[in-house]
Amino acid sequence: MHAKIRKLQAQTRALEPEAAERAALLDKVRLYGESFLMNLAQRPAYLPTEDEGVGLYGSPISDNPIDLDTALDLLAHNVDRPGINPASPGAFGYIPGGGLYVAALGDYLAAISNRYAGLYYASPGAVRMEQMVLKWLASEVGYPESATGNLTSGGSIANLAGIVTAREAHNVRARDVERSVVYLSRQTHHSVDKALRIAGLRECVKRYIPLDDRYRMRAEALEESILNDKKAGLNPWLIIASAGTTDVGAVDPLVDVADLVRTHQLWLHTDGAYGGIFVLCAEGRKVLHGLDQANSLVIDPHKGLFLPYGTGAVLVREGRQLLEAHYYHNVPYLQDAEMAQTELSPADLSPELTRHFRGLRLWLALKLAGVAPFRAALEEKILLARYFHKKIQTIAGFEVGPYPDLSVATYRYVPKRGDVNAFNQKLAQAVQYDGRVFISSTMLNGKFTLRLAVLCFRSHLDEVDRVIEVLQEKVRELEE
Ligand SMILES: *Cc1c(COP(=O)(O)O)cnc(C)c1O
Repeated sequence: MHAKIRKLQAQTRALEPEAAERAALLDKVRLYGESFLMNLAQRPAYLPTEDEGVGLYGSPISDNPIDLDTALDLLAHNVDRPGINPASPGAFGYIPGGGLYVAALGDYLAAISNRYAGLYYASPGAVRMEQMVLKWLASEVGYPESATGNLTSGGSIANLAGIVTAREAHNVRARDVERSVVYLSRQTHHSVDKALRIAGLRECVKRYIPLDDRYRMRAEALEESILNDKKAGLNPWLIIASAGTTDVGAVDPLVDVADLVRTHQLWLHTDGAYGGIFVLCAEGRKVLHGLDQANSLVIDPHKGLFLPYGTGAVLVREGRQLLEAHYYHNVPYLQDAEMAQTELSPADLSPELTRHFRGLRLWLALKLAGVAPFRAALEEKILLARYFHKKIQTIAGFEVGPYPDLSVATYRYVPKRGDVNAFNQKLAQAVQYDGRVFISSTMLNGKFTLRLAVLCFRSHLDEVDRVIEVLQEKVRELEE
């Protein structure tokens, strides 16, 4: 047995490279990263390829190792080439983010030490670091000291955590679901629908509140709906407000909605996955007035704080409600953890137990840059969307959607003849295939609409001007 164990030990050697090997590996990875970043402006923002990365399959997972150079070649060709390049300064589709370099260093450090960020007892420092960034976020929102939060993998899970908290706080049991009413709008993000379904709330009554001409929920219509439902003996309990819709960046009337929530004793869950973070800048704060009134709130740092994917956040005004919905105790194998508990553990505030140490990437980015550059970048993004909105409507043929609340502008081109929707679909495709910039589209009231979502920290005035240039060029080609 002894000899066998020693033999197996020898076979694990590749799992722990020695110092010189580590240095060589890291150097190669660093150079790969440098080459990626140095060429970012020249790389397409979107690249459709015929192979779509299928080359990965040519090197199956097997007992035979490959070297890092080969692995990086596979990565470069199959992963970092085809599709959307979300790190690109020309990325204006969906909700772009970016991926701060310093956050990547935080991830590197988190992966090296592999601190256990789920339980306070296991890593009090890692947990404090997470709580600290969440407390900071809560204070920027204007939440009281009682607020608590959790760093999630993204907005979808954060919405789920908020909705589950609402369900528990209002004691909506299985037998109550069919008569419990959720108020939302057609602009609500689909992850909310998904969360309701996962949370066992599929059979809730859903009221889609009509929108005003800026795609914001109409508060009077909401009130009417609540009153009718009460009269009908139903149980109105949850309002989902959007603080920045994905489609157009619209912010629901948060103050009016919060008034209704108080009057009728409902739960307000505000989805600010995209837009909530704009409270960091003066322009955003004006638009987001009332954000602090939400009982639960979602903000995605992997959008507006430009972090790499995998960082969302849920904040709950009365933090104990998040705890009451997610804690678990009396697990025999966690008894050491429970006895040493003096601070809340992320595991008691989330469906997750073992998780990525997300706090480090966020903390490092905020500490090394300070908050001021984030405030400036966010204000810049709002102004860029407004600049685009103003400029594109001066170009013959273009019409625009509402004045941007935040950093999304909508527009479309009305051709001299032919079907407008079909033309805009071709226009979106032509811009995407060109690759210099990436934009996406949506349907608004049956109209095929183009979107400019400005949120990548690398996108500045020149890139927005480039979008206009590319649009004009493609319109000319399509009109011919
Ligand atoms: C992006 C987004 C989500 C989903 O967040 P993920 O991080 O993609 O899971 C939810 N709501 C809104 C408004 C969003 O923009």
